[in-house]
Amino acid sequence: MMTAAPLDLLGRPMHDLRISVTDRCNFRCVYCMPKEVFGRDHAFLPRAEILDFEEIERIVRASVALGVRKVRLTGGEPLIRRNLDALVGMLAAVDGVEDLTLTTNASLLAPRASALAAAGLHRVTISLDALDDATFQRMNDVGFPVARVLEGIAAAEAAGLGPVKVNTVIQRGMNEHAVLALAEHFRGTETTVRFIEYMDVGHSNGWRLDDVVPAAEIVAAVDARWPLEPVDAEYRGEVARRYRYRDGGGEIGVISSVTQPFCGDCTRARLSADGQLFTCLFATSGHDVRAVVRSGATDVDLAEALRAIWTDRSDRYSELRTLETVKQPKVEMSFIGG
Ligand code: SF4
Repeated sequence: MMTAAPLDLLGRPMHDLRISVTDRCNFRCVYCMPKEVFGRDHAFLPRAEILDFEEIERIVRASVALGVRKVRLTGGEPLIRRNLDALVGMLAAVDGVEDLTLTTNASLLAPRASALAAAGLHRVTISLDALDDATFQRMNDVGFPVARVLEGIAAAEAAGLGPVKVNTVIQRGMNEHAVLALAEHFRGTETTVRFIEYMDVGHSNGWRLDDVVPAAEIVAAVDARWPLEPVDAEYRGEVARRYRYRDGGGEIGVISSVTQPFCGDCTRARLSADGQLFTCLFATSGHDVRAVVRSGATDVDLAEALRAIWTDRSDRYSELRTLETVKQPKVEMSFIGG
């Protein structure tokens, strides 16, 4: 059922599908899921509203027919979803899925890495915002220690889920001092740290432009210590700008949605745990794909529904960001998995 890959209104194909398998998380990262908003009485999605594995698999099959080649499992924290290995196995078996990855805070990863690899997972990306517990715990806001995340990274490497990528959100006044510490810690290893500019995702993190540390400033700081040179992107839509150490010590990356937007090459769609398709990280609403899946529609109908959504897409929020757009009631990042 292969058809020509549809392009959106800006000529971009749908290549990456990010799937949030739960809106729950065991961290309360201040830039994503602040405790004040996601407190004890926060209403998470009821079970019946969440896509089951068969429904997710159907949507992935239909998306592959439209050109998707990379599937990333996210959350919230995806490893909170029970029996995730089974879903990994189902998606790894979908013909056309060339890259099956997972983004996790690694809090539950160490004991599960080899089972996930055995089920067919290819790689993991792990969030780690600092190397010192004081800063890391201030940012995850649940007192989770760095050592346990490093254990998760080691377990992932040992299970063959590497080279691991580490995502670090840099927020001025919180952890900009962690840049050199993290760069030094992972230099000379297979692990690449990607420093992410603090973004106005959702509508709960109190984002201010002043709290953004521009990617150029981060690169300059690392370059001053260990000279860097830029590396060309491997494919259209690669999110991080990559730099290698001139002395062969590996690479770093920066994700610069605020100061150097990359919407022109954005090939990502995001599926929430309750089956809404979002065509931009900063969208204010999604498209109810679950209704299509649960309407008795055929796989061809489902693919047509996805095609109609994608071909009508014109998102480029980061290129159009203003202090007004920042106030829009955007979907929470924890709901669509970054
Ligand atoms: S802002 Fe939206 S369109 Fe631009 S790169 Fe991010 S997700 Fe893609």
